[in-house]
Amino acid sequence: MALQLVHGIELSLVQPVINATGVLLHTNLGRAPLAPRHFLLEGNDPSGFRSTTLEFELASGSRGSRHTGVATLISELTGAEDAVVVNNNAAAVLLVLAATSQERDVAISRGESVEIGGGFRIPEVLEQSGARLVDVGTTNRTRVSDYANAIAKKGNDIATIMRVHPSNFHIDGFTEQAPLGELAGLGVPVISDIGSGLIDANCPWLPGAPPQWLSQEPAARQALEEGAALVTFSGDKLLGGPQCGIIAGRADLVAACKRHPLMRALRPGSHVLIALQHVLLSFAARTAVHDIPFWSMATAPLNDIRQRAERLAHDTGAQVVSSTAVPGAGSTPGAEIESFAVSLRGDHTAQLRRHRVPVVARTENSATLLDLRSVSPADDAELGVALRQLSEKS
Ligand SMILES: *Cc1c(COP(=O)(O)O)cnc(C)c1O
Repeated sequence: MALQLVHGIELSLVQPVINATGVLLHTNLGRAPLAPRHFLLEGNDPSGFRSTTLEFELASGSRGSRHTGVATLISELTGAEDAVVVNNNAAAVLLVLAATSQERDVAISRGESVEIGGGFRIPEVLEQSGARLVDVGTTNRTRVSDYANAIAKKGNDIATIMRVHPSNFHIDGFTEQAPLGELAGLGVPVISDIGSGLIDANCPWLPGAPPQWLSQEPAARQALEEGAALVTFSGDKLLGGPQCGIIAGRADLVAACKRHPLMRALRPGSHVLIALQHVLLSFAARTAVHDIPFWSMATAPLNDIRQRAERLAHDTGAQVVSSTAVPGAGSTPGAEIESFAVSLRGDHTAQLRRHRVPVVARTENSATLLDLRSVSPADDAELGVALRQLSEKS
């Protein structure tokens, strides 16, 4: 097997791990986990190989576009006129700015000129796109009139207004943000980088009402309804899909993105599109809670998690403790989801990482905690093996 041929570098290869950290979208562990079937084309024989219709139209037998199928699904789910997919949301923002605002001005609130994750800084991305930044308002308060003044100001050439969701922090207190609907009335297209990829605030794919921890998250469908000309978001945060970035909204602006020379450099390959297609179809079929790992982890009844923890503790001599899981991926700052963990005295995280299926756990008050909300129930037995091996060694 390949892993043996490259003896010595096994630990540095990308490989599956069990995420027992309780951070559902763990940035270091690939954000949204997917199942192997998400990368398979239905009907493809796993022992053989087949090509795909990536750029081929079955109906006519002629060349097609890789964007058509997923764009139809995204439009259906968000109400957008059209959509296009790129490699990540940073690429989506870069492409949108380059296609709509190159050599022109973009108005951004001083409160939204943010840095997100490692090195995604709005002023720097803007500079790379060839657009010019025009700061409006203040860090804590920006009004519609601030944008209107920037548009009217002599010497400015405002092509677009950009809104950025400050995904990984929030400011409290004396703050004011201009309503999207009013910005949309100022006569220039509003681009809203919503970041986390919640496609609809009403979560029609959930059996009940949207959970409390989602209440502060902007959603694609509602942003477009309020008047955003384009929204951009990640595929591997709250959407629960593969790493990609999605641009959705006005057909003429999406067409401008597709025509831009950067498109070719930023376009996704078939594996990403296949996985994204599976995920979007699950939202459309309202089976997301069963089919998309992030949504099944996030909505698993607390009682089920407790029972799994009790079973595991019973089999291994560990203790059951209540725990707090988080959505993660720099989205929903402060949001918490109740959970249960099994706890062992001492720090065993290094040994757990060397289990045959590496287990990533966290430590708290000199105990090792394995939070079961971020673990697939199919891996409970493997966790049992890992924990029993620890107690044999100690
Ligand atoms: C996460 C995030 C990004 C970066 O997205 P990637 O998919 O990691 O490139 C950009 N903008 C916002 C608002 C985000 O939350």
